[in-house]
Amino acid sequence: MNILVANLGSTSFKFRLFRFDGAGNAALVAKGGYERVTDYGKAIDDCLTELQAAGHVRSAADLHGVGFKTVLGRGVTGCVPADDRVIQALDGFREIAPAHNPPYALGIQRFREKLPAVPRVALFETAFYQWMPEAATRYAVPPAWHDAGVRRYGFHGASHKFVAERSAELLGREDIAERARRLYQAGPTPLAAGARPLRVISCHFGGSSSVTGIRDGVAIGTSMGLSPQSGLPQNNRVGDLDSAAVPFVMKTLNLPLAEVERQMTKEAGLLGLSGAGNDMRDVKAAAARGDARAQLAVEVFIHSARHWIGAMLVELGGCDALVFTAGIGENNPDLRAAICANLGELGIALDPVRNEALRGAEGEISAAGSRAKVLVIPANEELVVARETVRCLQAGR
Ligand code: ADP
Repeated sequence: MNILVANLGSTSFKFRLFRFDGAGNAALVAKGGYERVTDYGKAIDDCLTELQAAGHVRSAADLHGVGFKTVLGRGVTGCVPADDRVIQALDGFREIAPAHNPPYALGIQRFREKLPAVPRVALFETAFYQWMPEAATRYAVPPAWHDAGVRRYGFHGASHKFVAERSAELLGREDIAERARRLYQAGPTPLAAGARPLRVISCHFGGSSSVTGIRDGVAIGTSMGLSPQSGLPQNNRVGDLDSAAVPFVMKTLNLPLAEVERQMTKEAGLLGLSGAGNDMRDVKAAAARGDARAQLAVEVFIHSARHWIGAMLVELGGCDALVFTAGIGENNPDLRAAICANLGELGIALDPVRNEALRGAEGEISAAGSRAKVLVIPANEELVVARETVRCLQAGR
């Protein structure tokens, strides 16, 4: 089975082609993409031409599905056929994810026009959070706000689900790995009587960052809320902020709402704090040169990461594995060490040598006596989209 995963930005189109064998094992066959895209229809044509020229597919008939990593939709989540209902759901929440929902709604329609016979599947980033306890999803807002959709949804679902599956495999818990793999088709299936619980804290630290608590393969809490603006400081987005700040700066700095929104989404986060850039490498380089703002930005990031790890530690009642994933989590031993500092009493201790040696690869970095395993698991979101697309198509047969 050939599955194309389409990653759509407002002016970009990236793709990966995965091939699944009969046993369900996936191989990445091709990847590519285009910037400054003004017409997704042309990008789809170019992609197909490229895949044909490289001999990966003979025609569109060789494509068995297209998977989309959609962000959030009004009234729809999970892994579902990317049909009119999904397009309407994306439109219904375009205000919450303005950079993501319109491109996906348009891209899905273009794929339908260009390749009508190739089934389309949407995997929502919110899907992993469908089973969070209601108390973890509720904001203390008037009912009309809640009814309009103001609640905690959670994001980075594909990444955290990969961590749920992979960490269970690495810890020898095939029962939990299988439970996590089947989650979107079967829901949280019963555990075998007497099975030990598996509590994982997954830290996706990258261009945007979130911490998710996972019990037995299912998310029970997360740092991201209504939108991907929330939680930790993001690259150039604000992260958590007291809601009183918005009317306050509108009145005292005389800023219109659109300008407040622009600053919160373009000039805040690591960039706003440091003034040195929105990439952690640039922020750290400035901090190493003695730039006080950049040093503080790194400290704020670490503080927020520890805050959310602490929240999940309590919600889970302990931790069997703490996992770092994505660009920052995989490549910055110094940040991992700072985030895990003084947590020995809570059962989390790093091995400094292992930690320092591990960059961009999978492995364990905890000390021999650490109660919790500390792991690095490289992010693999597109693979999750491809796998879930196959499962969705097979379940629909
Ligand atoms: P996204 O996909 O959201 O852009 P990534 O997972 O690629 O995010 O993470 C980007 C972040 O990861 C940047 O802040 C960058 O500094 C950091 N990062 C990526 N690669 C490295 C690296 N080799 N060393 C240090 N930091 C890195």
